[in-house]
Amino acid sequence: MNKAHAHANTGPRLVAWEVTRNCNLNCVHCRAAASRGPYTGELGTEKCLEILKQIAAAGQPIVILTGGEPLLRQDIFELAKHGTGLGLRMVMAANGTLITSEMAGSMKSSGIQRVSISLDGPDASTHDRFRQVQGAFEGSIRGIEELKKTGIEFQINTDHHTAQRGPGSGDARPRRKARSSRAPYLPAGPHRTGQGYDQSGNQCRAV
Ligand code: SF4
Repeated sequence: MNKAHAHANTGPRLVAWEVTRNCNLNCVHCRAAASRGPYTGELGTEKCLEILKQIAAAGQPIVILTGGEPLLRQDIFELAKHGTGLGLRMVMAANGTLITSEMAGSMKSSGIQRVSISLDGPDASTHDRFRQVQGAFEGSIRGIEELKKTGIEFQINTDHHTAQRGPGSGDARPRRKARSSRAPYLPAGPHRTGQGYDQSGNQCRAV
């Protein structure tokens, strides 16, 4: 058995790497306890490049760049490109609000193969309340549109919570144009939260 095959069989299969705690949203259910920051003392670029080398030496996992909001790192595409060059499958978990056309282009050229976007409900009133930022839902939908235009695969993650249930909302999946044959709906967020209660006393439960 050669070294590459040995790694594929025995090394880690998935690495979710919280590359920053900074975030532009302020979700009530954030497992990463991320907020706007800025937080200092985070790992520098050189250290992160070294960590990617160590990951590649241990196996060939999928590496999820997450946070916080990974797009707030100035060097995020340098990291993605480096991981891609090491033969790692680089993906990203983002909240979607910062994905402009330019960002999507940089994702593609750095080798990001898939992006997961979190939506907490079918509409802005549900989503924005959880995210505690007005316009977050529209921002995420815009980000998804940019991914679609750029040809980057995406998936929508969500947490199930009782606040999603309203009149006629038996199925809480986002129904807007974000849905496509390339966008599987996965009932789990990038930050699994187990279960708990939001500030209004509604139950949240990761499934
Ligand atoms: S759940 Fe994600 S988007 Fe929300 S505050 Fe935490 S890191 Fe930011």
